[in-house]
Amino acid sequence: MESLETAHGNGSGRPGADIDVLVVGAGITGIYQLYIALEAGFSATLLEAGAGVGGTWYWNRYPEARFDSESYTYAYLFSKELFEEWEWQEHFAAQPEIERYLNHVVDKFDLRRHMQFGAKVTSAVYDESGVWTVGASDGTERRARFLIAATGVLSVPYFPDVPGREDFHGVSAHTGLWPSTPIEFAGKRVAVIGTGSSGVQLVPAIAGEVASLTMYQRTANWCTPLNNRPITSEEQAGLKAGFEAMRDTLNASRSGFLHLPANRTTFEDSKEERWAFYEKIWRSPGFSKLSSNYTDLTTDKAANAEWCEFIAEKIRSIVKDPETAERLIPKDHGYGGKRPPYVTGYYEAYNNPNVSLVDLTETPILRVTETGIETAGGLREFDVIVWATGFDFGTGALLRMGIRRRQGLELEQYWADGPRTFLGIMCHGFPNFFFPGGPHGSAGNNPRYAGDQSDFINDALVYMRDHGYRSIEVPAAKEDEWTTMVDTLAMKVGFDESSYFYGSNVPGKPRRYLINPAGRPKLLEIMAEVVKGDYKGFLA
Ligand SMILES: Cc1cc2nc3c(=O)[nH]c(=O)nc-3n(C[C@H](O)[C@H](O)[C@H](O)COP(=O)(O)OP(=O)(O)OC[C@H]3O[C@@H](n4cnc5c(N)ncnc54)[C@H](O)[C@@H]3O)c2cc1C
Repeated sequence: MESLETAHGNGSGRPGADIDVLVVGAGITGIYQLYIALEAGFSATLLEAGAGVGGTWYWNRYPEARFDSESYTYAYLFSKELFEEWEWQEHFAAQPEIERYLNHVVDKFDLRRHMQFGAKVTSAVYDESGVWTVGASDGTERRARFLIAATGVLSVPYFPDVPGREDFHGVSAHTGLWPSTPIEFAGKRVAVIGTGSSGVQLVPAIAGEVASLTMYQRTANWCTPLNNRPITSEEQAGLKAGFEAMRDTLNASRSGFLHLPANRTTFEDSKEERWAFYEKIWRSPGFSKLSSNYTDLTTDKAANAEWCEFIAEKIRSIVKDPETAERLIPKDHGYGGKRPPYVTGYYEAYNNPNVSLVDLTETPILRVTETGIETAGGLREFDVIVWATGFDFGTGALLRMGIRRRQGLELEQYWADGPRTFLGIMCHGFPNFFFPGGPHGSAGNNPRYAGDQSDFINDALVYMRDHGYRSIEVPAAKEDEWTTMVDTLAMKVGFDESSYFYGSNVPGKPRRYLINPAGRPKLLEIMAEVVKGDYKGFLA
């Protein structure tokens, strides 16, 4: 099939593009974007900063890094053959298996030869001839018609600005930049800073082997059991037989999960019935605590407080030291106010005599020294410090790529007050540029909505080729509509402003909602409208 470039020439007499599509990022989104671009007959290349495939599942290789989406609901669903040949070992797979899976996909579909690793994009400039010139850290420069940044929402690790961080003489690592040679924990004095999803996965995984483990907590989180287990052979057979039905259910689901929503509100039940229901939810898998709970969980404060009280009782019943238990119970937000972590043995780990908790609201960190961490409560010495301090969520990677629009304006300037997007896919003034899986799109199980976005983009490129268009750009009014929807709906149904979904963990970052509060159905509805309207107003 003809590439866009050969079909249309470069149009301006200036040197044209080397390729049709340049994808950035070899995570689950970028791999799929590359695959469908090639399938559609475009010439395409993928650049990746890391040395291998996997994105999140390449960088986050700390012990017990794992899904809290069910493995088979997160996996690709575009190929039944792929789905049938890859048997996930656990309902919630761990990082090594996920990384193996993504490498398997890349090899099965012969994508590796289109990928360049160790190539971090540092500049991307669009010129009037309709070409993106993209420079990378490996010294290369490529000219592409379309730039698709599948650079992830959780791909730029964040370190808090603690004095002396570089002075520590022991081993220091961020969970999101974990070294490929495993860190030796046995017999070591270990500090973990941060109680987000990564920190609370790591603690129970190493608590049994370390000499001591100190968890530094700024904010307690509502942790509930992941309830992971191996997938039995009967379940494997059931998954294969039910592939189409499962895909249909996922496609119809608001958040891309299989969990069925409950059919009633909290106070329709008596306290006894509520506690029995909560117990069932507590024992159910992963995100069902949010998606299968009472329907008013996140909209009625009193309802939310009931579920929180149930969890608080659980924490008090598991953690033997009452003071530690109290410190582990969140006081500043309700359930779902922040992204809830799912755990295996996290609270139980505190019953291990070598595990302790430092509450940073009582004794803040003053500095890191050569030998340890000094708080207002004194110095503790360590061999290993783990920074489980999260990411510059949503916009972090996109704002570090040197993206410049035709008038010379940079994306950093355009988004100085927070992102402005259409469907979390594109923005006005930056033609032929897309960012699937980026800010404003996110709505639950990541690959489900990011895959929709990739399909929308690829279909648009095919339409352009078929109809002789050279440029696609969202009209300002459409971008404004989506951005306003995100901002206004966030106030009604979104996470708390203290959540990293508002960028609140990064000092100086504008406090703007960074995910999609309308969920996947709204995304699909608007995409369908644009396609039905033949991309009216978008194409030139
Ligand atoms: C520990 C952890 C657990 C998670 N668990 C789940 C889960 O269970 N379910 C779920 O739905 N989501 C989960 N997530 C969210 C997760 O990020 C997404 O599911 C998914 O990985 C996003 O895929 P992606 O391809 O869009 O981005 P990523 O996987 O983040 O990949 C982006 C890639 O782009 C590369 N990149 C970035 N900037 C550049 C540049 N300038 N030049 C070149 N390359 C660049 C990065 O190196 C990275 O490899 C989790 C995240 C973390 C950190």
